[in-house]
Amino acid sequence: MRTLFAGGIVFVGGRFCRADLLMEETRVLAVDRGLDRSDVDRVIDCEARVIAPTFIDLHTHLRYPGVDEDDDPTSIARAALVGGYGVIVSMANTWPPIDRVGRWQEASARFATLPIEVVQAATVTLGREGQRLVDFERLAEAGVEIFSDDGSGIQDSGVMRQALVASAEFGVLIAQHAEDASLAVGGVVNDGVVADSLGVASIPEVAESAMVARDIELLKGIPGRLHLQHVSARESLNLFRQAKREGLRISAEVTPHHLLLPDTRVLGGDTRFKVNPPLRSIPTQMALLQGVLDGSFDAVATDHAPHPESRKRGSYEEAAFGMIGISEAMAATWTALWRTIGSGERGELGSDLASPEWVAFGSLLSCLTSGPAEILGRSSRLAPQAVADLVVIDPSAAPREVPSRLYRSGNSPYLGETLVGRVDDVFLEGRQVVGEGEVIDG
Ligand SMILES: [Zn+2]
Repeated sequence: MRTLFAGGIVFVGGRFCRADLLMEETRVLAVDRGLDRSDVDRVIDCEARVIAPTFIDLHTHLRYPGVDEDDDPTSIARAALVGGYGVIVSMANTWPPIDRVGRWQEASARFATLPIEVVQAATVTLGREGQRLVDFERLAEAGVEIFSDDGSGIQDSGVMRQALVASAEFGVLIAQHAEDASLAVGGVVNDGVVADSLGVASIPEVAESAMVARDIELLKGIPGRLHLQHVSARESLNLFRQAKREGLRISAEVTPHHLLLPDTRVLGGDTRFKVNPPLRSIPTQMALLQGVLDGSFDAVATDHAPHPESRKRGSYEEAAFGMIGISEAMAATWTALWRTIGSGERGELGSDLASPEWVAFGSLLSCLTSGPAEILGRSSRLAPQAVADLVVIDPSAAPREVPSRLYRSGNSPYLGETLVGRVDDVFLEGRQVVGEGEVIDG
Protein backbone atom coordinates (compact mmCIF):
# COMPACT_ATOMS: atom_id res chain seq x y z
CA MET A 1 0.00 0.00 0.00
CA ARG A 2 1.44 3.32 -1.13
CA THR A 3 -0.02 6.66 -0.05
CA LEU A 4 1.01 9.99 -1.52
CA PHE A 5 0.53 13.14 0.55
CA ALA A 6 0.43 15.53 -2.37
CA GLY A 7 1.19 19.24 -2.64
CA GLY A 8 1.63 19.92 1.06
CA ILE A 9 4.14 21.77 3.20
CA VAL A 10 6.40 19.30 4.99
CA PHE A 11 7.95 20.15 8.35
CA VAL A 12 11.39 18.61 8.31
CA GLY A 13 14.48 19.51 10.32
CA GLY A 14 12.75 22.47 11.96
CA ARG A 15 11.81 24.07 8.63
CA PHE A 16 9.02 23.99 6.09
CA CYS A 17 9.39 22.95 2.48
CA ARG A 18 6.87 22.43 -0.30
CA ALA A 19 7.01 18.74 -1.16
CA ASP A 20 5.08 15.53 -1.61
CA LEU A 21 5.54 12.74 0.88
CA LEU A 22 5.31 9.12 -0.20
CA MET A 23 4.51 6.49 2.41
CA GLU A 24 4.77 2.75 1.85
CA GLU A 25 3.23 0.46 4.49
CA THR A 26 4.75 1.62 7.81
CA ARG A 27 7.56 3.79 6.45
CA VAL A 28 8.22 7.11 4.75
CA LEU A 29 9.64 6.28 1.33
CA ALA A 30 10.41 9.71 -0.07
CA VAL A 31 10.00 13.44 0.55
CA ASP A 32 10.45 15.45 -2.62
CA ARG A 33 8.77 17.72 -5.15
CA GLY A 34 6.64 16.28 -7.93
CA LEU A 35 6.73 12.62 -6.88
CA ASP A 36 5.27 10.17 -9.41
CA ARG A 37 1.57 9.47 -8.83
CA SER A 38 1.24 6.55 -11.22
CA ASP A 39 2.16 3.72 -8.85
CA VAL A 40 0.21 4.96 -5.83
CA ASP A 41 -2.87 3.44 -4.13
CA ARG A 42 -4.14 6.58 -2.43
CA VAL A 43 -3.55 10.30 -2.92
CA ILE A 44 -4.29 12.71 -0.07
CA ASP A 45 -4.51 16.30 -1.24
CA CYS A 46 -2.52 18.38 1.24
CA GLU A 47 -2.79 21.74 -0.53
CA ALA A 48 -2.14 24.52 2.05
CA ARG A 49 -1.80 21.93 4.79
CA VAL A 50 1.23 20.95 6.85
CA ILE A 51 2.62 17.44 7.24
CA ALA A 52 4.60 16.97 10.44
CA PRO A 53 5.73 14.15 12.73
CA THR A 54 3.15 13.14 15.36
CA PHE A 55 3.34 15.12 18.59
CA ILE A 56 4.92 14.06 21.88
CA ASP A 57 3.39 15.14 25.21
CA LEU A 58 5.81 15.11 28.14
CA HIS A 59 3.04 15.65 30.69
CA THR A 60 -0.23 13.70 30.76
CA HIS A 61 -2.19 12.41 33.72
CA LEU A 62 -3.68 9.06 32.73
CA ARG A 63 -5.12 8.48 36.19
CA TYR A 64 -4.06 4.85 36.24
CA PRO A 65 -3.92 3.22 38.70
CA GLY A 66 -6.58 5.30 40.38
CA VAL A 67 -10.21 5.89 41.08
CA ASP A 68 -12.18 4.83 38.01
CA GLU A 69 -14.49 7.85 37.93
CA ASP A 70 -11.55 10.15 37.09
CA ASP A 71 -11.47 9.00 33.48
CA ASP A 72 -9.80 6.00 31.91
CA PRO A 73 -6.66 5.50 29.83
CA THR A 74 -8.63 4.44 26.74
CA SER A 75 -10.67 7.65 26.66
CA ILE A 76 -7.57 9.78 27.29
CA ALA A 77 -5.63 7.97 24.55
CA ARG A 78 -8.42 8.74 22.06
CA ALA A 79 -8.38 12.39 23.06
CA ALA A 80 -4.60 12.41 22.59
CA LEU A 81 -4.87 10.87 19.12
CA VAL A 82 -7.34 13.56 18.06
CA GLY A 83 -4.79 16.10 19.30
CA GLY A 84 -2.17 14.64 16.96
CA TYR A 85 -0.13 12.79 19.57
CA GLY A 86 1.76 9.55 18.99
CA VAL A 87 3.62 9.44 22.31
CA ILE A 88 2.59 10.65 25.76
CA VAL A 89 4.44 10.59 29.07
CA SER A 90 2.24 9.39 31.92
CA MET A 91 2.78 11.09 35.27
CA ALA A 92 3.40 9.01 38.38
CA ASN A 93 1.17 10.82 40.91
CA THR A 94 -1.42 8.06 40.65
CA TRP A 95 -3.13 6.17 43.42
CA PRO A 96 -1.08 4.35 44.55
CA PRO A 97 1.91 6.28 43.16
CA ILE A 98 4.32 4.61 40.72
CA ASP A 99 7.25 4.35 43.12
CA ARG A 100 8.37 0.74 42.61
CA VAL A 101 9.18 -1.62 39.75
CA GLY A 102 6.06 -3.80 40.03
CA ARG A 103 3.68 -0.85 39.78
CA TRP A 104 5.62 0.65 36.89
CA GLN A 105 5.55 -2.65 35.00
CA GLU A 106 1.84 -3.14 35.67
CA ALA A 107 0.95 0.35 34.42
CA SER A 108 3.23 -0.02 31.39
CA ALA A 109 1.59 -3.36 30.53
CA ARG A 110 -1.88 -1.77 30.75
CA PHE A 111 -0.83 1.07 28.44
CA ALA A 112 0.76 -1.30 25.94
CA THR A 113 -2.80 -2.20 24.87
CA LEU A 114 -3.54 1.42 23.84
CA PRO A 115 -3.25 2.67 20.25
CA ILE A 116 -0.76 5.32 21.37
CA GLU A 117 2.71 4.89 22.90
CA VAL A 118 2.82 5.69 26.61
CA VAL A 119 6.10 6.33 28.44
CA GLN A 120 5.38 5.79 32.12
CA ALA A 121 7.27 7.97 34.63
CA ALA A 122 8.14 6.89 38.17
CA THR A 123 8.16 9.08 41.27
CA VAL A 124 11.41 10.52 42.62
CA THR A 125 10.56 9.75 46.23
CA LEU A 126 8.79 6.88 47.97
CA GLY A 127 5.07 7.53 48.28
CA ARG A 128 5.79 10.87 46.59
CA GLU A 129 6.41 12.16 50.11
CA GLY A 130 9.63 14.02 49.31
CA GLN A 131 11.69 12.23 51.97
CA ARG A 132 13.44 9.11 50.67
CA LEU A 133 14.50 8.36 47.09
CA VAL A 134 12.92 5.48 45.17
CA ASP A 135 15.25 2.66 44.07
CA PHE A 136 16.67 4.44 41.01
CA GLU A 137 18.94 1.55 40.12
CA ARG A 138 16.20 -1.07 39.90
CA LEU A 139 13.72 1.28 38.22
CA ALA A 140 16.28 2.42 35.63
CA GLU A 141 17.19 -1.22 34.98
CA ALA A 142 13.49 -1.99 34.44
CA GLY A 143 13.36 0.76 31.80
CA VAL A 144 12.22 3.97 33.56
CA GLU A 145 13.55 7.06 31.75
CA ILE A 146 11.76 9.87 33.64
CA PHE A 147 11.31 10.46 37.35
CA SER A 148 8.92 13.10 38.70
CA ASP A 149 7.02 13.82 41.92
CA ASP A 150 4.66 15.99 39.82
CA GLY A 151 1.77 17.35 41.83
CA SER A 152 4.24 18.83 44.25
CA GLY A 153 7.83 19.99 44.25
CA ILE A 154 10.66 18.28 46.13
CA GLN A 155 11.00 20.61 49.10
CA ASP A 156 14.10 19.13 50.75
CA SER A 157 17.26 20.43 49.04
CA GLY A 158 19.30 17.43 50.20
CA VAL A 159 16.79 15.00 48.66
CA MET A 160 16.75 16.98 45.41
CA ARG A 161 20.53 16.93 45.28
CA GLN A 162 20.55 13.14 45.75
CA ALA A 163 17.97 12.84 42.96
CA LEU A 164 20.18 14.82 40.55
CA VAL A 165 23.17 12.65 41.51
CA ALA A 166 21.07 9.54 40.78
CA SER A 167 20.05 11.11 37.45
CA ALA A 168 23.73 11.38 36.53
CA GLU A 169 24.55 7.89 37.75
CA PHE A 170 21.73 6.10 35.93
CA GLY A 171 21.33 8.38 32.90
CA VAL A 172 17.71 9.30 33.64
CA LEU A 173 15.77 12.56 33.74
CA ILE A 174 14.45 14.36 36.85
CA ALA A 175 11.32 16.36 35.98
CA GLN A 176 10.44 18.91 38.63
CA HIS A 177 7.11 20.54 39.48
CA ALA A 178 8.87 23.57 40.93
CA GLU A 179 6.86 24.97 43.80
CA ASP A 180 8.16 26.05 47.20
CA ALA A 181 5.26 24.93 49.40
CA SER A 182 6.07 27.51 52.09
CA LEU A 183 5.42 30.30 49.55
CA ALA A 184 2.14 28.81 48.34
CA VAL A 185 0.30 27.88 51.53
CA GLY A 186 -3.42 27.53 50.82
CA GLY A 187 -2.97 29.36 47.51
CA VAL A 188 -5.38 28.75 44.63
CA VAL A 189 -4.82 31.63 42.15
CA ASN A 190 -2.14 34.03 40.94
CA ASP A 191 -1.28 36.82 43.37
CA GLY A 192 -2.37 40.40 42.76
CA VAL A 193 -5.71 41.50 41.35
CA VAL A 194 -7.36 38.08 41.12
CA ALA A 195 -6.43 36.92 44.64
CA ASP A 196 -7.56 40.28 46.07
CA SER A 197 -10.79 40.27 44.11
CA LEU A 198 -11.74 36.67 45.00
CA GLY A 199 -10.45 37.07 48.57
CA VAL A 200 -8.40 33.87 48.40
CA ALA A 201 -4.76 32.99 49.08
CA SER A 202 -2.32 33.03 46.17
CA ILE A 203 0.51 31.03 44.62
CA PRO A 204 2.86 33.84 43.53
CA GLU A 205 5.35 33.39 40.69
CA VAL A 206 8.21 33.41 43.20
CA ALA A 207 6.91 30.13 44.71
CA GLU A 208 8.02 28.58 41.41
CA SER A 209 11.09 30.65 40.54
CA ALA A 210 12.61 30.30 44.02
CA MET A 211 12.68 26.52 43.58
CA VAL A 212 13.93 26.82 39.99
CA ALA A 213 16.81 28.99 41.29
CA ARG A 214 17.62 26.41 43.97
CA ASP A 215 17.48 23.49 41.54
CA ILE A 216 19.79 25.24 39.07
CA GLU A 217 22.27 25.89 41.89
CA LEU A 218 22.08 22.21 42.85
CA LEU A 219 22.59 21.11 39.24
CA LYS A 220 25.86 23.02 38.92
CA GLY A 221 28.66 20.51 39.25
CA ILE A 222 26.38 17.47 38.84
CA PRO A 223 26.14 15.96 35.34
CA GLY A 224 22.49 15.04 35.91
CA ARG A 225 19.56 16.15 33.74
CA LEU A 226 16.83 18.43 35.05
CA HIS A 227 13.54 19.19 33.30
CA LEU A 228 11.31 22.05 34.49
CA GLN A 229 7.62 21.19 34.24
CA HIS A 230 4.84 23.67 33.38
CA VAL A 231 6.95 26.84 33.69
CA SER A 232 4.63 29.74 34.55
CA ALA A 233 6.85 32.48 35.98
CA ARG A 234 8.89 35.11 34.15
CA GLU A 235 11.86 34.71 36.46
CA SER A 236 11.84 30.90 36.03
CA LEU A 237 12.21 31.43 32.29
CA ASN A 238 15.05 33.95 32.78
CA LEU A 239 16.90 31.61 35.14
CA PHE A 240 16.38 28.71 32.74
CA ARG A 241 17.75 30.68 29.78
CA GLN A 242 20.82 31.64 31.79
CA ALA A 243 21.40 28.04 32.95
CA LYS A 244 21.14 26.80 29.36
CA ARG A 245 23.66 29.41 28.23
CA GLU A 246 26.01 28.16 30.95
CA GLY A 247 25.79 24.68 29.48
CA LEU A 248 23.82 22.96 32.23
CA ARG A 249 21.81 19.90 31.20
CA ILE A 250 18.43 21.51 31.65
CA SER A 251 15.20 21.63 29.63
CA ALA A 252 11.77 23.18 30.14
CA GLU A 253 8.16 22.90 29.06
CA VAL A 254 5.29 25.40 28.99
CA THR A 255 1.58 24.54 28.78
CA PRO A 256 -0.96 25.72 26.19
CA HIS A 257 -3.23 27.07 28.94
CA HIS A 258 -0.53 29.29 30.45
CA LEU A 259 0.10 30.69 26.96
CA LEU A 260 -3.54 31.27 26.01
CA LEU A 261 -5.48 32.07 29.16
CA PRO A 262 -4.74 35.04 31.47
CA ASP A 263 -5.40 34.97 35.22
CA THR A 264 -8.41 37.27 34.81
CA ARG A 265 -10.32 34.23 33.51
CA VAL A 266 -10.71 33.04 37.11
CA LEU A 267 -12.54 36.22 38.19
CA GLY A 268 -15.95 34.68 37.58
CA GLY A 269 -15.04 31.82 39.92
CA ASP A 270 -15.33 29.18 37.16
CA THR A 271 -13.40 26.21 38.58
CA ARG A 272 -12.47 24.92 35.10
CA PHE A 273 -9.71 27.55 35.26
CA LYS A 274 -8.29 26.28 38.55
CA VAL A 275 -4.89 24.80 37.81
CA ASN A 276 -1.50 24.53 39.46
CA PRO A 277 0.60 26.52 38.73
CA PRO A 278 -2.21 29.06 38.36
CA LEU A 279 -2.96 31.11 35.26
CA ARG A 280 -0.73 34.20 35.24
CA SER A 281 -0.92 37.90 34.33
CA ILE A 282 -0.90 39.07 30.71
CA PRO A 283 2.70 40.44 30.93
CA THR A 284 3.88 37.03 32.13
CA GLN A 285 1.89 35.34 29.38
CA MET A 286 3.64 37.57 26.82
CA ALA A 287 7.04 36.64 28.26
CA LEU A 288 6.19 32.91 28.07
CA LEU A 289 4.99 33.29 24.47
CA GLN A 290 8.30 34.98 23.66
CA GLY A 291 10.02 31.94 25.19
CA VAL A 292 8.31 29.73 22.58
CA LEU A 293 8.97 32.14 19.70
CA ASP A 294 12.69 32.53 20.45
CA GLY A 295 13.22 28.80 20.93
CA SER A 296 13.99 28.97 24.66
CA PHE A 297 11.37 26.39 25.61
CA ASP A 298 12.09 22.83 24.54
CA ALA A 299 8.50 21.65 24.69
CA VAL A 300 4.86 22.55 24.90
CA ALA A 301 3.34 19.99 27.27
CA THR A 302 -0.32 19.70 28.19
CA ASP A 303 -0.56 18.75 31.90
CA HIS A 304 -3.83 17.12 30.75
CA ALA A 305 -5.52 16.31 34.08
CA PRO A 306 -9.05 14.87 34.01
CA HIS A 307 -11.34 15.24 37.02
CA PRO A 308 -14.91 14.05 37.55
CA GLU A 309 -17.48 16.81 37.91
CA SER A 310 -17.80 16.08 41.63
CA ARG A 311 -14.24 17.26 42.26
CA LYS A 312 -14.61 20.46 40.27
CA ARG A 313 -17.82 21.44 42.12
CA GLY A 314 -18.05 23.86 45.03
CA SER A 315 -16.11 27.03 45.72
CA TYR A 316 -12.90 27.98 43.96
CA GLU A 317 -11.00 27.04 47.11
CA GLU A 318 -12.64 23.61 47.42
CA ALA A 319 -12.39 22.49 43.79
CA ALA A 320 -9.50 20.32 42.59
CA PHE A 321 -6.57 21.73 40.62
CA GLY A 322 -6.23 20.61 37.01
CA MET A 323 -7.69 20.93 33.53
CA ILE A 324 -7.84 18.85 30.37
CA GLY A 325 -7.25 19.85 26.75
CA ILE A 326 -4.88 17.43 25.00
CA SER A 327 -7.08 17.37 21.87
CA GLU A 328 -6.84 21.16 21.54
CA ALA A 329 -3.20 21.63 22.60
CA MET A 330 -1.87 22.53 19.14
CA ALA A 331 -4.81 24.82 18.29
CA ALA A 332 -4.80 26.52 21.71
CA THR A 333 -1.08 27.25 21.50
CA TRP A 334 -1.28 28.34 17.87
CA THR A 335 -4.18 30.65 18.73
CA ALA A 336 -2.09 32.22 21.51
CA LEU A 337 0.90 32.70 19.18
CA TRP A 338 -1.31 33.94 16.35
CA ARG A 339 -2.84 36.63 18.54
CA THR A 340 0.69 37.79 19.33
CA ILE A 341 2.23 37.84 15.85
CA GLY A 342 -0.52 37.34 13.29
CA SER A 343 -2.87 39.71 11.61
CA GLY A 344 -6.54 39.08 11.01
CA GLU A 345 -8.81 36.61 12.71
CA ARG A 346 -7.82 33.54 10.72
CA GLY A 347 -4.43 31.93 10.74
CA GLU A 348 -3.85 32.73 7.04
CA LEU A 349 -0.15 32.05 6.77
CA GLY A 350 0.45 33.19 3.20
CA SER A 351 2.82 31.78 0.62
CA ASP A 352 6.16 33.00 1.97
CA LEU A 353 7.47 30.12 4.10
CA ALA A 354 10.09 32.46 5.63
CA SER A 355 7.48 34.93 6.97
CA PRO A 356 7.34 35.61 10.74
CA GLU A 357 4.01 33.73 10.87
CA TRP A 358 5.51 30.58 9.36
CA VAL A 359 8.60 30.87 11.58
CA ALA A 360 6.29 31.10 14.61
CA PHE A 361 4.34 28.04 13.48
CA GLY A 362 7.66 26.22 13.07
CA SER A 363 8.65 27.15 16.63
CA LEU A 364 5.39 25.68 17.85
CA LEU A 365 5.85 22.45 15.88
CA SER A 366 9.42 22.07 17.20
CA CYS A 367 8.00 22.30 20.74
CA LEU A 368 5.51 19.53 19.90
CA THR A 369 7.89 17.22 18.00
CA SER A 370 11.72 17.45 17.94
CA GLY A 371 12.02 19.30 21.27
CA PRO A 372 10.28 16.71 23.43
CA ALA A 373 11.77 13.90 21.27
CA GLU A 374 15.25 15.07 22.15
CA ILE A 375 14.40 15.08 25.85
CA LEU A 376 13.26 11.46 25.48
CA GLY A 377 16.38 10.62 23.46
CA ARG A 378 14.54 9.79 20.25
CA SER A 379 14.34 11.16 16.77
CA SER A 380 11.33 12.88 15.23
CA ARG A 381 11.95 13.51 11.57
CA LEU A 382 10.05 12.86 8.36
CA ALA A 383 12.92 11.47 6.29
CA PRO A 384 13.10 8.43 4.01
CA GLN A 385 12.98 5.17 6.01
CA ALA A 386 11.56 6.91 9.10
CA VAL A 387 8.50 5.25 10.67
CA ALA A 388 5.39 6.91 9.19
CA ASP A 389 4.06 8.56 12.37
CA LEU A 390 2.67 11.78 10.98
CA VAL A 391 -0.06 14.40 11.21
CA VAL A 392 -1.74 16.54 8.58
CA ILE A 393 -2.54 19.98 10.00
CA ASP A 394 -4.59 22.85 8.63
CA PRO A 395 -2.99 25.86 10.38
CA SER A 396 -5.40 28.26 8.70
CA ALA A 397 -8.57 26.39 9.67
CA ALA A 398 -11.12 29.03 10.63
CA PRO A 399 -11.78 29.64 14.31
CA ARG A 400 -14.27 27.12 15.54
CA GLU A 401 -15.86 26.36 18.83
CA VAL A 402 -14.44 23.41 20.74
CA PRO A 403 -16.89 20.50 20.93
CA SER A 404 -17.70 19.03 24.32
CA ARG A 405 -18.17 15.41 23.26
CA LEU A 406 -14.49 14.45 23.09
CA TYR A 407 -13.80 13.85 26.72
CA ARG A 408 -15.31 11.82 29.48
CA SER A 409 -14.28 14.54 31.93
CA GLY A 410 -15.71 18.02 31.48
CA ASN A 411 -12.99 20.18 33.03
CA SER A 412 -11.78 21.73 29.77
CA PRO A 413 -10.95 25.45 29.82
CA TYR A 414 -11.41 25.52 26.02
CA LEU A 415 -15.11 24.64 25.88
CA GLY A 416 -16.82 27.52 24.12
CA GLU A 417 -13.46 28.98 23.08
CA THR A 418 -12.79 29.59 19.38
CA LEU A 419 -9.41 28.31 18.31
CA VAL A 420 -7.43 28.66 15.08
CA GLY A 421 -5.92 25.63 13.35
CA ARG A 422 -6.85 21.97 13.35
CA VAL A 423 -5.24 18.54 13.29
CA ASP A 424 -7.06 16.86 10.39
CA ASP A 425 -5.45 13.42 10.00
CA VAL A 426 -3.14 11.26 12.09
CA PHE A 427 -1.16 8.21 10.92
CA LEU A 428 0.70 5.86 13.26
CA GLU A 429 3.10 3.39 11.64
CA GLY A 430 1.38 4.17 8.36
CA ARG A 431 -2.11 3.34 9.61
CA GLN A 432 -4.67 6.14 9.67
CA VAL A 433 -6.07 6.53 13.20
CA VAL A 434 -7.70 9.97 12.85
CA GLY A 435 -9.52 11.33 9.80
CA GLU A 436 -10.93 14.85 9.57
CA GLY A 437 -10.51 15.24 13.31
CA GLU A 438 -12.34 12.03 14.25
CA VAL A 439 -10.88 8.79 15.63
CA ILE A 440 -11.12 5.95 13.11
CA ASP A 441 -12.01 2.75 14.94
CA GLY A 442 -10.91 -0.72 13.93
ZN1 LIG B 1 2.59 19.67 38.17
